[in-house]
Amino acid sequence: MVKNREGKGLKTIGLLGGMSWESTVTYYQIINEAVKREMGGLHSAKILLYSVDFAEIEECQAEGNWDRSAEILSRAAKSLEDGGADFIIICTNTMHKVAGEIGRGISIPIVHIAEATSDSLKERGIKKAALLGTKYTMTQDFYKNKLIEAGIDVIIPDDVDRVNDIIYNELCLGKVLEQSKAVYLSIIRGLKEKGAEAVILGCTEIGLLIKQEDVDIPVFDTTLIHAERAAKLAME
Ligand code: GLU
Repeated sequence: MVKNREGKGLKTIGLLGGMSWESTVTYYQIINEAVKREMGGLHSAKILLYSVDFAEIEECQAEGNWDRSAEILSRAAKSLEDGGADFIIICTNTMHKVAGEIGRGISIPIVHIAEATSDSLKERGIKKAALLGTKYTMTQDFYKNKLIEAGIDVIIPDDVDRVNDIIYNELCLGKVLEQSKAVYLSIIRGLKEKGAEAVILGCTEIGLLIKQEDVDIPVFDTTLIHAERAAKLAME
């Protein structure tokens, strides 16, 4: 249960962003559009944003120093709480690897991106889904287990590095390239042939490259799902 610490009006969303900032922009936009759609008039979301330096976080990832990244993000989450946030949205799939550590340092809830996504898949009756994301998200258990616990069978591409490199070397730098889109579409086709009924864009930048209209199976864009969930909770 998410409480409103001000006691009235919209709840304040604490965005832990900058990972990368290219996708944090989408969060800001989607959340505000949802509030405007539901509430009309001049209504807009109450948002606090702590945007980190992604180079520091990426360095921790590459070194396998998850403790250090958890410290950086825990400090940021604490300042969002101290600033008045009612709940936290970590604007990246990958860094949910340390969501537990971040959660232990604060007393407001974190809305987990993989839980929001698995709820969405279950609502649509999806039993087997392809997962695209960083190599950490695709190959480690912290993310996939949330989906598996929800009864969803997860398959990942054979060429994990190719998918990963396009995220870090292009999308996180704001480069959206046609040839990379073709690579992703061919990977999605291959996973569909292996039985995927849907594809999860399990990295918050992939939605910059792939849209529902590009693909003939349902697309679950984690950024949109997570941002919509944040807006809904803020308005409840
Ligand atoms: N935004 C990406 C994700 O959703 C990757 C960047 C990161 O490593 O946080 O996983």
